[in-house]
Formats: sequence, C-alpha cells, structure tokens
Amino acid sequence: MKAAPATTAGASAAAVDAGDGRPRGQQARPPSPAAVEKKLFSIRYRADEASHLSLADPERCTRCERPCLWFCPAAVYQWEDGHMRLAYENCLECGTCRVACPSANVVWHYPTGGCGIAYKRG
Ligand code: SF4
Ligand code: SF4
Repeated sequence: MKAAPATTAGASAAAVDAGDGRPRGQQARPPSPAAVEKKLFSIRYRADEASHLSLADPERCTRCERPCLWFCPAAVYQWEDGHMRLAYENCLECGTCRVACPSANVVWHYPTGGCGIAYKRG
C-alpha cells in the first residue's frame, strides 16, 4: 500500500505561528493613514462645554520644541500666533500628552459624565 503523501497542514501551522496569525518572522505593519482615518469615523464625540485639559503654564510652550504637535493623534495641540491652542473637542482620551509632555505642562481630567468620546468597539 502506498503511503499517503505528507500533508502540509503541519508546515502551514508552523508558518503562521507568530502567535497572532502572522507568519513567523513577519513584522506587524503600522496601519496606513487611510485605515486610521476610517477608524476615526467610527468614533462619536460629545464635546464638553469646558475643556477637560489645560496648560499649567502656557509660557512653557514658548520655550519647548513642541512635540505635542506630532505625538497627539487628534491634533488637539495647535501652535497659532505664538500661542498653544487646545482643540479639546477632538481629544481621543488616549492619555499620551499626560506622560509625553517634557515639561509636565498638561493638566488633564476626564470630561464630565456623558461627554467626551465613545468608541464603537470598546
Ligand atoms: S509638549 Fe508640553 S510644554 Fe511643550 S508645547 Fe506641548 S504642551 Fe507645551
Ligand atoms: S489625550 Fe491623546 S488625543 Fe487627547 S490631547 Fe492628549 S494626546 Fe491628544
């Protein structure tokens, strides 16, 4: 009797055994900007009347390299006419600015109940 040919199931399982379905050795790719924009459309905002974030000392921003302009994913921090403007209504509540501002200049609280962001998928 002829031996059954070896299946490729074992090899396939090993090939996608990176722990998350990706082939072994393949790096996770960052999402494309288009994919991020698509996800942003699935978010619902309800802006609070008052800002839930502020600057402890706005003068500190004039002496800063202003990394918040690129680390905030929602462009909340906007440098205009020599001043930092906070478009708090766009905040995704990710908390990055609370830890990434080099001067600990961000005063941040959660928006009042019922306001802020609601993610469709948790
Ligand atoms: S990183 Fe902090 S101190 Fe610097 S500009 Fe932004 S908010 Fe101001
Ligand atoms: S919490 Fe996140 S989205 Fe909101 S202002 Fe800070 S960095 Fe931007």
